[in-house]
Amino acid sequence: MLRKTGLVSSEKYFWYDSLNQAFPPFYIEPGGNPDRPDIKKRFFNLLSAQGVLERLTPITPRKATAEEILRIHSASYFESLTRQSGKIAGEAGPGAVFAANSFDIALLSAGGVMAAVEQVMSRQVDNAFALVRPPGHHAETDRGAGFCILNNAAIAARHAQSYSGVERVAIVDWDVHHGNGAQQIFWQDPSVLTLSIHQDYYFLEENTGTLDYRGEGVGEGYNLNVPLPPGSGNAVYRDVIKRVVVPALEAFKPDFIIVACGLDAGCYDPLGRMAVTPSCFRDMSAAMAECATRLCDGRLVLSQEGGYDLASTPYMGLGVLEGLCGAEFLSENPFEVFGSTLGYTNAILPHQEEVISKAQQFAADLR
Ligand SMILES: [Zn+2]
Repeated sequence: MLRKTGLVSSEKYFWYDSLNQAFPPFYIEPGGNPDRPDIKKRFFNLLSAQGVLERLTPITPRKATAEEILRIHSASYFESLTRQSGKIAGEAGPGAVFAANSFDIALLSAGGVMAAVEQVMSRQVDNAFALVRPPGHHAETDRGAGFCILNNAAIAARHAQSYSGVERVAIVDWDVHHGNGAQQIFWQDPSVLTLSIHQDYYFLEENTGTLDYRGEGVGEGYNLNVPLPPGSGNAVYRDVIKRVVVPALEAFKPDFIIVACGLDAGCYDPLGRMAVTPSCFRDMSAAMAECATRLCDGRLVLSQEGGYDLASTPYMGLGVLEGLCGAEFLSENPFEVFGSTLGYTNAILPHQEEVISKAQQFAADLR
């Protein structure tokens, strides 16, 4: 089925600069930051070159207001970002350094995902992809981290909840790194289901992405982590969608679904050790679109998170858009061809099955 998909983009997103000292105290030769603007720019260029842009409905982003940011982030954090924005460089948290005036673009990034929510709510489009920078899913209430300044998906979730008839929002995060931001922000909030599929034991100093982190108080059970072993490929990810994500969404009955769509589980990503190919990204986003149609009138927004390979990341993204639109844009995706030569992409090994079956049980507990 063909769906009318919106695309948020802006040239300014490609001007956001994460600087080079993203990982103090290490020093990287200038130009070596993994969060290079040209990767996402090439994603946009690929959509243009393949004639995909004409099939998408353009959505113009706007800047998020202070009031909208403060629904998620603390006043002291917001004030610190505003103050640092006028300086030569600012630091939002570990691995989240930004150049002068980049905070303005972070506001446009959060506002871009909100604009996508607005277009979906007014039914101008069936669903939407927000090709924004900087990403957001590591940002917590009072700090940024890992290239993320503002938690775009969380801000968009609260924005969706400001509409009458939208009470429950699900955030599904398939970036290869743990979605620690939404987990922390909605830890005690049963109105937002946070579900993260990521590479096990892989982010920051504390490992908060394990199966045991399930929320607290009235929010208990509404945070679900699926920490997959390195090397997990298409079969594992498809199984997680089928056995964990879809049942969890069916039990939760969201009024709106937001996907924190990292592309760094892609098989050639330098910051991940997973083996996902474009067809799997296509199937995952198609599954989300079908779920949204069944459960919440089709309301679905995908927000760009990580993805760090200059050559392959755009092609993983093309797969995502094929699934969202329900169309084929490229009869032979080169990174599907290359990826098919990797071993184990179509296998589920015992240590992977162990994680999936535990997470499957937690998803069943949501009923
Ligand atoms: Zn990531």
